Amino acid sequence: EVENERELPKPVPAPATLFADIVFDRPLDHAYTYAVPEQFVAKIGVGKRVEVPFGKGGKGTAGFCVRVTDVRPTSGYEIKTVARVLDDDAIVDDHVMKLTRWMADYYLCGWGQVLHAVVPAGVRDNAGTRVASFVEPIPKEKLPNPLPTVTPQQKAALDKLKKENRPLEVLQLARLAKCTTGVVAGLIKKGLVRKFSERIETPAAAPGADTEDTSETDAPHVEIALNADQLRVWEQLKGALETGGYHPFLLHGVTGSGKTEVYLRAIEEVVKQGKEVIVLVPEISLTPQTISRFKGRCGNLAVLHSHLTDAERGGYWRRVATGHIQVVVGARSAVFAPTRKLGLIVIDEEHENSFKQESTPRYHARDVAVMRARLEGIPILMGSATPSLESWANAERGNYTVLSMPNRVASRPLPAVKLVDLRHEPKPHGKHYAIGPTLESAMRQTLKDKGQIILLLNRRGFSTHVHCEACGHVAQCAHCDLAMTFHRTKNSLMCHYCGFETAPFQKCPACAQPAMRYQGLGTEKLQVEIEEKFPGNVCQRMDSDTMSKPGSHQRVLDAFRDGLIQILVGTQMIAKGLDFPNVTLVGVVNADVGLHLPDFRSAERTFQLLAQVAGRAGRGEKGGQVLVQTFTPDHPCITLASHHNYGEFAKLELVHRKLHKYPPYERLARLIVRSEKEEAAATFADTLAGAFKEAMRRAATAQGQTPVRLLGPAECPVFRLNNFYRFHFQIQSDSSAVLHEVLRNVLTLAKPPSGVEFQVDIDPYSM
Ligand code: ADP
Ligand code: ZN
Repeated sequence: EVENERELPKPVPAPATLFADIVFDRPLDHAYTYAVPEQFVAKIGVGKRVEVPFGKGGKGTAGFCVRVTDVRPTSGYEIKTVARVLDDDAIVDDHVMKLTRWMADYYLCGWGQVLHAVVPAGVRDNAGTRVASFVEPIPKEKLPNPLPTVTPQQKAALDKLKKENRPLEVLQLARLAKCTTGVVAGLIKKGLVRKFSERIETPAAAPGADTEDTSETDAPHVEIALNADQLRVWEQLKGALETGGYHPFLLHGVTGSGKTEVYLRAIEEVVKQGKEVIVLVPEISLTPQTISRFKGRCGNLAVLHSHLTDAERGGYWRRVATGHIQVVVGARSAVFAPTRKLGLIVIDEEHENSFKQESTPRYHARDVAVMRARLEGIPILMGSATPSLESWANAERGNYTVLSMPNRVASRPLPAVKLVDLRHEPKPHGKHYAIGPTLESAMRQTLKDKGQIILLLNRRGFSTHVHCEACGHVAQCAHCDLAMTFHRTKNSLMCHYCGFETAPFQKCPACAQPAMRYQGLGTEKLQVEIEEKFPGNVCQRMDSDTMSKPGSHQRVLDAFRDGLIQILVGTQMIAKGLDFPNVTLVGVVNADVGLHLPDFRSAERTFQLLAQVAGRAGRGEKGGQVLVQTFTPDHPCITLASHHNYGEFAKLELVHRKLHKYPPYERLARLIVRSEKEEAAATFADTLAGAFKEAMRRAATAQGQTPVRLLGPAECPVFRLNNFYRFHFQIQSDSSAVLHEVLRNVLTLAKPPSGVEFQVDIDPYSM
């Protein structure tokens, strides 16, 4: 064990016959070749990590081995030598190797960066494991002759070990035989027992409740008979699952149509074949309620959520890799689970934006999952009530098979949605209430009937806008070009982007007049209004302010299920996935929040949010209704959402996307230049503009015309963010290949000076 040594061992002088290509956690587009010294020839392998001299001074740096070859490279450079092989077994298998290679190419980042990001830290540093020393008796035929004499204590220890009939840790044996480790050491020295080391898991990483085979402990599962829609869909799926092979399905089923039951059948089928399944769900859906539905139905389950420790994460990874787990349920990073015989990928709520990662590698887990399914030759089942337009277009092009479930189970109707036109709502006492009279009286009726209420307002905080009435000054973050939000509970002004906080002002910081006005509506203020209007009822708020502690989410949902809470108010957090049969009223306080953002997906997002939140109502026998307050009741996105008409919405919005050359019709990439010095960012943005011109000229020569459109450089919609001044470019093309070629050229033509960074975002989701 040399893991803790800092100095690199001296290279072995013998001429190397084996070479290894190594990639590092750097934005580099190629691998470096190292010679493999004799002592590592047997140990080196693709998917293992090595330590090699790299960079200035040749310091020991960890990297991933991506290729082993016996062909000596002809670079002319001095070939350095692998100093150490860090893993006994490959930690990344061939499939994930290929997948990460594709990601590096597609998302334009280093292969080493991708590998570093997808292998959990707990795997990289062996968290949750330790190297233990074991002893076992030496077999008779190998005992020394003549037999050495032993002390009575040594004899007692040896007898204990023989009686156990399995290797014991040295300490364990000492404890059992009530002797010191010195006694055991004596036995080793005399050649009577053999000592060996092995890496083992510590209890922290050992299987927790989530991985236990719960088929015995959980309540016996009640077989649900599939209804006609589910059966029709299942018939289409079954064949593909039996034959295997790449086959993408898009399951379009309205909220409450029983999609999860279809996933479960598919999972059961694949597990029965002895294969494994990856199930991707949005992080927010990783609730015990969801998990308990999967448990006990389909073999051993691993649930990967964000509150796991490194050791737990490492433990899961190792157990998946060794075939002890059949079903991996998790948020986006679960797409990289090191399964051995993957048979199916399921993605629930495939339209969710949380599948997009907003740091390098900026991947979309749905797209990566589709690529993984293709590489491994397996079916993939993506489900949603409101599919992303990317997936919908793929279905229309015939790339995906659509499975449709247009009805709720048990012939329950979709809830009636009523639009409340805020322009014409009366204002009692001339006051601006968040809850208008129509919504208020519906709430009163619901509470009287012992129903429960969900209220959506997709903006947290108390006042979302703080300004001076005397001079017009708006309270802004000291680090971002963003308005501060007032939080009453914390009594502070907060920036929702960078987290900057400051005490609320009594006087205007600009003109010193005591004229600061607190306006705009957030969930905190809404809760106060509800508590005033509906005394005697419990109103709980659910947003990222109240839900920051692990487990808080679940505690609230449990209390809501038990009827201890009558009104649940919150941000988009409450819109998704919740299945509470007693919710008979869903209210949307302001449907227009988010509709007019400078983002081509704002209509799609608004539609999805309204459809999802409406889907929370009427899931039980009592039925339910939805009231949507809006200033724009004629906006097609709001009208169509109120009619549960996804098909028409998709049709309209796709026409719009085509007209404006947006995805899914054209490929889009965004490049951001940022620096804490405005001047430096601007200068490099100009350099990049030149590089773009050149790269597009080259592409045009190769293609015969310029098939790429470039917008920018322009200031980002939020120019200064977290102290960085930011410029962006937007690049569009109907050819992904050309788009990538141009970007790759730009990246080689223009290297940012120190203090300036850039980010490439392929298929961006935030504008
Ligand atoms: P979705 O994911 O499409 O919103 P779910 O899978 O959550 O819908 O199903 C909604 C409810 O209907 C769940 O409580 C589920 O147990 C129940 N359910 C699903 N399929 C059936 C069926 N065939 N018969 C009766 N109940 C069903
Ligand atoms: Zn800020």
